[in-house]
Amino acid sequence: MTEPVAFIGLGNMGGPMSARLVRAGYQVRGYDLSPTARQALADAGGTAAGDLADTVRGASVVVLMLPNSAVVAATVHDEQFVVEPGAVVIDMSSCEPLRTRALAAELAGRGATLVDAPVSGGVSRARTGELTIMTGGEPADLERVEPLLSQLGTTTRVGAVGSGHAVKALNNLLSATHLLVTSEAILAGERFGLDPQTMLAIFNRSSGRSGSTENKWPNFILPGTFDSGFELRLMLKDMRIATDLADQVGAPDPLGHAATDLWARAAEALEDTADHTEIVTWLRKDRS
Ligand code: NAD
Repeated sequence: MTEPVAFIGLGNMGGPMSARLVRAGYQVRGYDLSPTARQALADAGGTAAGDLADTVRGASVVVLMLPNSAVVAATVHDEQFVVEPGAVVIDMSSCEPLRTRALAAELAGRGATLVDAPVSGGVSRARTGELTIMTGGEPADLERVEPLLSQLGTTTRVGAVGSGHAVKALNNLLSATHLLVTSEAILAGERFGLDPQTMLAIFNRSSGRSGSTENKWPNFILPGTFDSGFELRLMLKDMRIATDLADQVGAPDPLGHAATDLWARAAEALEDTADHTEIVTWLRKDRS
């Protein structure tokens, strides 16, 4: 397996994902604005490219793992982003579905194909290759990229291009809302005199359980490490994508908007690089 793969965005997720592709035998040429991230790819056995042009030249597959739609669009519009004819661009970032569709149409005009393949599972599952990957695109295009994606996790086809990005944002609206209300419940219980560990043990055997009770509270909040590797500003971005989507299709979303407003207040109060699990830190301060 020696298919040349360009990988752009070697951050918390793109770093371990690109390293997995190297270990699976792909020739990975990666690029990131951060020299540290580029060096990490070189250390993992990939090739760190000096610029975008070098990254995409000769690559039949280009993976994007960038912060948001604005950065993805700026990258694809960069004059150095000259993709090979017939190349497929896999946008694994979490992005805005309608912007993804527009970009797919534009890339088609440049002789390339775009599929969206956002992920959930976080940094730990990026390392182990156990991500949940939700793909949008034409079946033939998805078939072409599935062998590569299978090195990173389990793929489910969800529909036309942009559909992966839609379901990803909706998942994170759920995840963020669960985390906020779980945190409210645990802080209330604590003030009543209950032990958080005991509460979590009960919730995890009851109907209140979620990824927040099973993973985020025990692994990142109770130990006080707040190091899930997923920044709060990225979570807020996804919540806004989901509530915008609901508004665009006329679906009722009063709770989604209320939760998004609260997360936006937390984002304003916390450091730019705060981990999303620090929503609890904000909640504690906001009510102290
Ligand atoms: P990150 O901020 O750690 O990584 C993004 C990387 O992109 C950074 O290294 C940054 O230097 C680089 N970058 C930014 N602009 C660039 C440009 N113009 N050219 C080249 N490189 C550029 O973010 P992340 O946590 O890895 O998330 C990436 C995407 O995956 C986001 O869309 C996020 O919402 C999504 N996501 C993250 C997680 C998680 O747990 N961290 C889980 C699922 C999905």
